[in-house]
Amino acid sequence: MTLLLNGIGVSRGISIGPAHILERGKAEILRCDIGDEHVAEEILRFRKAHKRAIKHLQETRNAIPRDAPEDIAAFIDSHLLMMDDPMLGQMPAQIIKEQKCNAEWALKCQENNLVKVFDEMQDSYLKTRRNDVEHIIGMIQGFLLNEDYNVKPQKDLKDYIIVADDLTASDTIMFERQKIGGFVTEYGGPTSHTAILARSFGIPSIVAMPGVRSLLVEDETVIMDSINGIVLAGADKTLLAKYRRQKKREKDHQQKLAILRHQPAKTRDGVRITLMANIELSEDIRILKRCGSDGVGLYRTEFLYIDRNKTATEEEQFRVYRKIIRAAGDNPVTIRTLDLGAEKEFDPSYEGPLTLNPALGLRAIRRSLKHPDTFLEQLRAIFRAGAYGNVRILIPMLTSTAELEQILHLCELAKEQLREKKIRFGGDTKIGGMIEIPAAAMAAEELGHRLDFLSIGTNDLIQYALAVDRIDEEVSYLYDPLHPGILRLIKMVIEAGKTLNLPVAMCGEMAGDARFTRLLLGMGLKEFSVHPNDLPEIKNIIINSNVAALRRRYKSVLASFNSDQ
Ligand code: PEP
Ligand code: MG
Repeated sequence: MTLLLNGIGVSRGISIGPAHILERGKAEILRCDIGDEHVAEEILRFRKAHKRAIKHLQETRNAIPRDAPEDIAAFIDSHLLMMDDPMLGQMPAQIIKEQKCNAEWALKCQENNLVKVFDEMQDSYLKTRRNDVEHIIGMIQGFLLNEDYNVKPQKDLKDYIIVADDLTASDTIMFERQKIGGFVTEYGGPTSHTAILARSFGIPSIVAMPGVRSLLVEDETVIMDSINGIVLAGADKTLLAKYRRQKKREKDHQQKLAILRHQPAKTRDGVRITLMANIELSEDIRILKRCGSDGVGLYRTEFLYIDRNKTATEEEQFRVYRKIIRAAGDNPVTIRTLDLGAEKEFDPSYEGPLTLNPALGLRAIRRSLKHPDTFLEQLRAIFRAGAYGNVRILIPMLTSTAELEQILHLCELAKEQLREKKIRFGGDTKIGGMIEIPAAAMAAEELGHRLDFLSIGTNDLIQYALAVDRIDEEVSYLYDPLHPGILRLIKMVIEAGKTLNLPVAMCGEMAGDARFTRLLLGMGLKEFSVHPNDLPEIKNIIINSNVAALRRRYKSVLASFNSDQ
C-alpha cells in the first residue's frame, strides 16, 4: 500500500531515495538541588555552555556559502543577539543562585518563562519566534549535557532524503555537502531558514509535514515531489517508474535552463522578444538570476502580506522592493500593486462585506482605491525603490478610464508626499495596466492613452470572458485559452499597443504555456512574462521560431479559429 503525506513544497524538485530519519528528541531535564558550595561551580558550567553555543553559532555563520541569501546570515545574527540578551545570558545564572538548582533546570525554567511570553503575543510573526528561543536554548542544553550539537552522520548520506523535526542552518549546510537528495521536516514554513537555504542550494524540500518521522522507516525508499508538496512511501514499480521519468524530465529541464541562460530570446529572423519572469517572493530573485530573464514582468506583492498574515509597512515594502531591484541590475522590475481579494484573501479577520461573487467584488485595484492610505503607502514604497533601478508599476484589474484617473492622481499625490519629506524617488517610474477584464481589453486603446505599457493577465481574462471560475474544478473543462473570443480579445490588446506604440506584455499562465508560444508570436506579442521554471522552455521555442512565417500562418488560422482545434 502506498502512503501519501502532504506538506508544503519549498524548494522545487523530485527525489527518490532511502529515508534517513533524524531523531534528535529533547532530553528529559530533571531538577537537582545543589548546596551553597556548588552554586559558583554550576554558574560556571552554565557560562561555559553558553559560550560554546555562541562559538558554535559564529562558526556556522562563517560557514555560510558566499552566495547564500543575506537572510541566512541575518537569521543567525538574530540568534546571536538573543544569546547576548541578559534574559538568556544572565537570568539562568540568577535562577541557579536563587533556586540552588542545576544549570539544566535553571535553563528549562527560563525557557518556560520566555515561551509563555511569546505564546501570549498577538502578532503571529513574533509568535513563531518562539521556535527560535527553543532552538537556541536547546543548543545550550546540548552543550551542558556535553553533546555535540552538530548532527554527525554515521553513514554516507548521498541521495538520502533527510527526515527531521526541523533543521538548523548548520545541519542544512552540512547535509548539502553530503549531496543528499532532499529534506522533509515536520516544522517550518516557506520562509524558514531551512526553506531559504534549500532553495538557494537547489535541494528539493518539503516542510510542515507533521508526524513524518514516525510514519517513515529508516532506509525505506521514498518519493518526494516538492513541486506538489507530497511524499510517497511504499510505492509500487509503476509509480516509481512514473516518478523516475518525471525526475528525468525535471533534470533535463534544469540542464536546458543552464544552457540557455546567457542567450537572448531572439527569433531565427532576428526579432528580439522580451522574456521576463513572474515572481512572488523576494527570494525568487535567486531563481531569476539562474534562469536568465530580461527582468521581472510581474511581482505579485500580495504574497508579502499573505505570507505574514498582516500588512507590510511602507519601510518594509521599500526594503523588499529595493532588494529585488538591486538584484535585477539594469533590467526592469514590474511591481504589481496589491491584488488582494477573491482567491487571494490574506486576512482571516477581514471584516469587509461578504459577497457572493468575490471575484467580481472589491478586489485588486478596487480594494486599493477603497483604502487610499494603504495604497499610497505602497505607491510611495515603489517610487522610493524606483530611485535604485528600473521600476515599473502595474495596476491589477483595471476597469475604466475614470478609475485610471483616480489611480494616476494618487500616484502624483504619493510623489508629492515624498517631495515634501525630501525623500529620494524614481521620478520616471512607468505605470502600466493589467488587462484582465474583457471590457478593458476592448477599451485597451482608451486606457492605453494614459499608460506607459499594458500587460495581459490571461488567468483572469479567461475567467471573466468565459464566465468560468479559475479555481473551480467542476468547470475547468471550459477554461479554454484558445476560445476564439479569448484570442480576439488578446489580439485587440496587441493591436491597441501597435496603434499607440505602447509595449504590450502577457503575464498570465498562457504566456508560460509552450503550446501557445508560436501562436502568440504570430499574433504579434513581443513581451512574455512567465514563471521562472517555464522560462527556458519558452526561450527555446522563441529562439527556434521565425516570426514572419508565424505571422503569415497566423493570419489564415485566426480567421477560421475555433476552440476545438
Ligand atoms: C492573471 O490574472 O493573468 C495574472 C497574471 O494575475 P493573477 O494570476 O495574480 O490573478
Ligand atoms: Mg489576475
